[in-house]
Amino acid sequence: MSADPVALTRDLLRCPSVTPLEGGALAYLDQVLSGVGFSVERVTFSEPGTADVENLYARIGNDAPHLMFAGHTDVVPPGDEAAWTVGPFAGDVKDGMLFGRGAVDMKGGIACAVAAALDHLAANGGKPKGSISFLITGDEEGIAVNGTVKLLQWAADRGERFDHCVVGEPSNTATVGDMIKVGRRGSQNGTLIVSGRSGHVAYPQRAENPVRGIVKLIAAVNAQPVDTGSAHFDPSNLEFTSVDVGNKTVNVIPAEARARFNIRFNDNHTQATLRSLVEQRVGAAADGVRWRIEWEPSNADVFLTQPGPFVDALVESIAEVTGRKPQLSTSGGTSDARFIKNYCPVVEFGLVGQTMHMTDERTPVADLVTLTAIYRRLLERYFQ
Ligand SMILES: [Zn+2]
Repeated sequence: MSADPVALTRDLLRCPSVTPLEGGALAYLDQVLSGVGFSVERVTFSEPGTADVENLYARIGNDAPHLMFAGHTDVVPPGDEAAWTVGPFAGDVKDGMLFGRGAVDMKGGIACAVAAALDHLAANGGKPKGSISFLITGDEEGIAVNGTVKLLQWAADRGERFDHCVVGEPSNTATVGDMIKVGRRGSQNGTLIVSGRSGHVAYPQRAENPVRGIVKLIAAVNAQPVDTGSAHFDPSNLEFTSVDVGNKTVNVIPAEARARFNIRFNDNHTQATLRSLVEQRVGAAADGVRWRIEWEPSNADVFLTQPGPFVDALVESIAEVTGRKPQLSTSGGTSDARFIKNYCPVVEFGLVGQTMHMTDERTPVADLVTLTAIYRRLLERYFQ
């Protein structure tokens, strides 16, 4: 089997694996990885009310240390296919660019890790000095309930233990090697609800307008920043995303007003401390306004992978191949790394994210070669 990351990416792009469809992508990885001695398991998870989703776990070697590559083969829909320069599932190269839905997010990243593993095995008698595994889900871009969370638990139940993980999500901003994600902010949603008393606008003395109250409370919450940031994180941010009274009339004072908000929070906070901070600010400003907050359950806690030999090995591999010193960042949205961090230290490093989820998602062919070389150097250092 060829260790050519361009051919591997192209073949994966030709599998139309829009969430929750497998589209042939996992079958293809199964064939490639079993071909070089990985034991491959394909597991389907179900949940009432959701589509069944197929996942893949492949491992070679029985010993520690155990390095896991994680990712997803599912992709977001291509949108208007006619708007693409080449077909979103054609896997064609044009002017040095490989086009296709999932090229950077993240079939390309998976293909580079597979190519690096194949090359490493070929150079080391077919076996790693430890273990390499691939934990690949088909449920990352959707609601993510039949994917990584269950696959990690399934693996743990079978006695699998991981020492480190690289998630091949597109972590770089402009060039391969400019950024490693070493953590992510947490995310928490809530709704601020103010109760009033409805009535005729001409007789406001008989009513109690919740719009006045909610405006005052929103201002109080936003009067100061949540915090000023920490050693590895930007300041936490609370953003109101919607304010509603649902009032279709012009002459009725409404009975209730609601304001939804999201908080992206750093390691100064837990969900519990955040909730009490917001409730304190609202409470202090309430002055008779009747309010409550509904907090939504969140599985997106903040996490940080501490600097150390593993992060250093990746940084040095990047420097060796590209001459760049990557920024260690905790910016951006959440990813499946938030689940993996409960099992082992995890970093995210893949292709350049610029075109992800866009029409004409694409990657320079040269980036696939560069990323493969970096993963290849990492394997060498890891098993030294
Ligand atoms: Zn992704």
